[in-house]
Amino acid sequence: KADLANVTFVEEETSKATQAVKKKSDSLAGKVITITGAGSGIGRASAVLMASRGAKLVLVDFNEATGNETLELVKEQEGEAIFVQADVSNEEHVQNYIQKAVETFGKIDVAFNNAGIIQKFQPFHETALSDFSRIIDVNLKGIFLGMKHALKVMDQQGHGHVINTASTTAIRAEHSLAAYTASKHGVAGLTKAAAIEYVRKGIRVNAICPGGVATSLTAAVPQMLQDSDYMPEEFPNMRMGRYAEPEELAELVAFLASDGSSYMTGSIILADGGLTL
Ligand code: NAD
Repeated sequence: KADLANVTFVEEETSKATQAVKKKSDSLAGKVITITGAGSGIGRASAVLMASRGAKLVLVDFNEATGNETLELVKEQEGEAIFVQADVSNEEHVQNYIQKAVETFGKIDVAFNNAGIIQKFQPFHETALSDFSRIIDVNLKGIFLGMKHALKVMDQQGHGHVINTASTTAIRAEHSLAAYTASKHGVAGLTKAAAIEYVRKGIRVNAICPGGVATSLTAAVPQMLQDSDYMPEEFPNMRMGRYAEPEELAELVAFLASDGSSYMTGSIILADGGLTL
């Protein structure tokens, strides 16, 4: 009896999956997507691309000016979007943008938790607790809060997809970046923990791991290297001879946000130009 019940369940799920992949994997028509760190880099490029594919966006950033610039770029794509200023490490701010998303669009299909900051390069034993805490607050606590409040909505809806921005430092260390490395390992951990918990609830959770991407975050690195004891010869080799453009990461995010990624959950996905090889 138990076996028969199980077979029926699998058939139902398979048929749902077949219907899902029949839908175009590049269409995001009608999907409501929150994006943190939407004012710059990977977040902005993802916003512009996903708007062009029909998504309705809730753009979130600490920086009001750059967030509003992204809103204008999205509107140029004739995309529907709102901007909400928030610090992702502040629970009230996170609750506020989640609430605004539901009030405005009635649901959240995809939560792209992407905001993050880089630390200064420094020896482990010289890392001030305040520097460590700042990185953990934004990169790990921020992702935790974004996940928690989106998952609450998704749990009620019975569907959803959380996409977190981790890094190659989620799976290997970067020299002199202990706090950043720890924060991104933590993002991978949260991703897997939630993926297991919600796997039978129609909610998927995945993480992307960029290597080096040409954004304001990496633009600051040369000066940071000069100001530190970091040994440049150990700086990761860009095997393709270049950084990624943020638009190249946006393609991955847009694919994940689409129904084409329907069998992916708990994945820690590298898009690093071979950096970790
Ligand atoms: P970016 O600096 O261009 O954009 C980050 C955005 O996040 C900015 O608009 C910033 O205002 C916002 N932000 C920062 N702290 C915030 C906070 N507390 N609350 C709300 N918004 C905040 O950087 P990016 O390269 O696009 O980075 C996006 C993500 O990608 C980060 O999580 C970063 O760690 C990750 N990442 C980047 C690279 C890279 O090489 N650029 C590599 C691996 C991972």
